[in-house]
Amino acid sequence: MSLDTTTFRNVINGELTSTTQTRHGVNPANKQPNPEVPVTTAEDLDRAVTAAKAAFKIWSRTTYEERRKAIFAYADSIEANKDALAALLTQEQGKPLSQSTQEVELAVVWARALPTIEIPETVIQDKEDVKTIHRYTPLGVAGAIVPWNYPILLAMGKIIPAIYTGNSIIVKPSPFTPYCGLKLAELAIPHFPAGVFQALSGGDDLGPMITEHPNIDKISFTGSTVTGRRVMASCAKTLKRVTLELGGNDAAIICDDVDIDKIIPNLALLSFLCSSQICMMIKRLYIHESIYDTFLAKFVAAVKSYKTGAGTDPETFIGPIQNSMQYEKAKDLFSTISSDNLTAALGGSIKDSKGYFIPPTIIDNPPEASRVVQDEPFAPIIPLLKWSDEADVLARANASESGLGASVWSKDLDKARRMADQLEAGSVWINSHFEVSPFAPFGGVKNSGIGTEWGVQGLTQYCNSQTLWVRKG
Ligand code: NAD
Repeated sequence: MSLDTTTFRNVINGELTSTTQTRHGVNPANKQPNPEVPVTTAEDLDRAVTAAKAAFKIWSRTTYEERRKAIFAYADSIEANKDALAALLTQEQGKPLSQSTQEVELAVVWARALPTIEIPETVIQDKEDVKTIHRYTPLGVAGAIVPWNYPILLAMGKIIPAIYTGNSIIVKPSPFTPYCGLKLAELAIPHFPAGVFQALSGGDDLGPMITEHPNIDKISFTGSTVTGRRVMASCAKTLKRVTLELGGNDAAIICDDVDIDKIIPNLALLSFLCSSQICMMIKRLYIHESIYDTFLAKFVAAVKSYKTGAGTDPETFIGPIQNSMQYEKAKDLFSTISSDNLTAALGGSIKDSKGYFIPPTIIDNPPEASRVVQDEPFAPIIPLLKWSDEADVLARANASESGLGASVWSKDLDKARRMADQLEAGSVWINSHFEVSPFAPFGGVKNSGIGTEWGVQGLTQYCNSQTLWVRKG
């Protein structure tokens, strides 16, 4: 049976559940309302938490093998509904259909890969009279708070680790993109015991209700640094475990020995994918001054070929900005192009249209202190900056409160490694950027986050650390 993408309900205790109040998101390509979604109340949340606690008692006693099997079957049903989910994602998020399809495919890859990771159990000592084992036990009820840029992949990146390690989880999608998150939980109903995986949609009050709830044990949050601080403060009251994946302002340093023609298509993609609404996009491009002019001309030519438009148009690469709030923020940042006397080598202005469209914009060597360099734009605008001295460019790359990702591009791997070793970021790449894997831990340093997701380190963040002492005889 094909997935119904016209009606949307919460999933509570294994059942599709309506609420008395509803609200709706907006299709960012035409500002038309998307279908109604539930507005969860405190009572709805209480029911979900009660169900999650009851489910945890049963689910935490199952074996890794049993959970793996259930997750694999669930991954199959996501894959079987790939086209419907991708179309829904474009309708709610705005990204081009090809990028939506890729997001669903990645979610399936993550769902199949994460449960193959072995959770370690370590024998610390095994003597005649005593054996000491370190192991990981499930935490309880997890809450996943998800942003609007990658609503499927980022939700799955929390759901699968939580379930695989024996927890139950309640997912709260962003109010801007609630649709696919609810469908992920609906598709899960046949695969897990009731209460193991639930999803609740709501307004701006639902996130704080979840972080305050006394019977939720862990919050995995992805979103802005400002909200991350609020989440952590709220979780402190009940000593919830917290993982925070927050904003970034990633620098890419381009050395003078690169093959410009070879790397430009990649750098353009890594700067403008998803209309630059990705935490680990390249957001500052530092180009060695000896190649700056050639690089700028070729970068502009590459980005010029990107078509801006609705995600349903197969020619589109730059879809709309996801929501009016982000669009207004971007307009404010764009206004600094004239107020700061900056030079736009491409784009530079925003014309009001039927959707939240912004053409890709490249700023030619702005001052380091300008907002286009210092702020995380989360919109298709990038500054290109000149550098000549290695120590100076490293200092500028690191002079940010963010520390999510950073990269060095050079044919000289020794030099690149020397520079990479000095970058302050949770992920550092040489000759690439934004490479992620379900097997590799992913997280930020400084204001870009606390803790990691994915890889064995990410999985164990859904666990208690337990040391078992066995006195023999
Ligand atoms: P946001 O912080 O506004 O919202 C994220 C989520 O938090 C939403 O579901 C929202 O409803 C919820 N929320 C809002 N206030 C809350 C509160 N007080 N308590 C609990 N929950 C609350 O972020 P956004 O605008 O949706 O996403 C954009 C930001 O996310 C950017 O800064 C981006 O860099 C960052 N991001 C980071 C990563 C990462 O993995 N590090 C990935 C994607 C996005």
